[in-house]
Amino acid sequence: MKAMLLREITSLKQNPTPLSFADTAEPVLEEGEVLLRVTRCGVCHTELDEIEGRTPPPHLPVVLGHQVVGIIESFQSQETLESTIKTGQRVGVAWIASACGHCQHCLAGNENLCAEFKATGRDINGGYAEYMKVRADFVHPIPDSFTDSEAAPLLCAGAVGYRALKLCNLQDGQSLGLMGFGGSNHIVLKAAKHIYPNSQIFVFSRNPDEREFALSLGAAWAGAIDQNPPEGLDAVIDTTPVWGPISEALKRLNPGGRVVVNAIRKEEIDKEVLLKLDYPSQLWMEKEIKSVANVTRQDVREFLDLAAEANIKPEYQEYDLEDANQALLEMKQGKIRGAKVLKVSQ
Ligand SMILES: [Zn+2]
Ligand SMILES: [Zn+2]
Repeated sequence: MKAMLLREITSLKQNPTPLSFADTAEPVLEEGEVLLRVTRCGVCHTELDEIEGRTPPPHLPVVLGHQVVGIIESFQSQETLESTIKTGQRVGVAWIASACGHCQHCLAGNENLCAEFKATGRDINGGYAEYMKVRADFVHPIPDSFTDSEAAPLLCAGAVGYRALKLCNLQDGQSLGLMGFGGSNHIVLKAAKHIYPNSQIFVFSRNPDEREFALSLGAAWAGAIDQNPPEGLDAVIDTTPVWGPISEALKRLNPGGRVVVNAIRKEEIDKEVLLKLDYPSQLWMEKEIKSVANVTRQDVREFLDLAAEANIKPEYQEYDLEDANQALLEMKQGKIRGAKVLKVSQ
């Protein structure tokens, strides 16, 4: 099968083509697993963190990609699953590939925090390939109203963005800030407008095209990262790869407000801004910073249902599987308008 492989940890600056095309063996199923013929795979910023070693895959080479849409080709599954899994069924795979199922976090519904959490396209091979295998209880039916390309970005950009939005603890009518406006936050804007119809949404981006894009999707205001919106913010979701935006968000946060950081890792380049944090204006008055980690199956399924009900469709650009490096490079350079999706098969 054709696959794009990550063979070594590298930086995109030194190596703008970190993935190499290969003809590899199809996966062999074990008990409880399904084989998917991948049709589309979304491109996520986390792939850059994997390639550049901030969250390195434990084994190389590896197939990246955790916003996978595919068709079930076959399965080796326990009896209990056979009624829910059918060959020919269209399903998605998200970042969560498995969790232990019996630790305190799993039992409390927070399988995203499990110490044995395994990630698709990092700890197991993902969707930048014609076929992938995954545990049958970690696939998600895709609502009929979405095409494969529309569904792919919902599986991480959408689902983790939705988890971040839930963690904001927002009430309808309170103001929401979005720092960065790429694959995830443009979907969050659409979801937030549906869940909190009386809230105003303020978008911060370094990129004028993204600011224009935000306004076209219904943001109340869009400005540069260090600009002042017309009112204070009750919550902010930060999807940027650096630290400056967190500092700027804290300056604009209302008392009791929360910044939710939706990034698996941050880059080190501007970390010194943290030493300049002004406690009275940026942290006092019970301001909070909270990260969002991974995603649960329930988040994914809730979000797919919500997206179908509210007709939330991502904006996206398609690339051939063989052009995955180009998609990643454009993401690194901030050339983002909506989400990026790889066409793997028809
Ligand atoms: Zn992702
Ligand atoms: Zn667990």
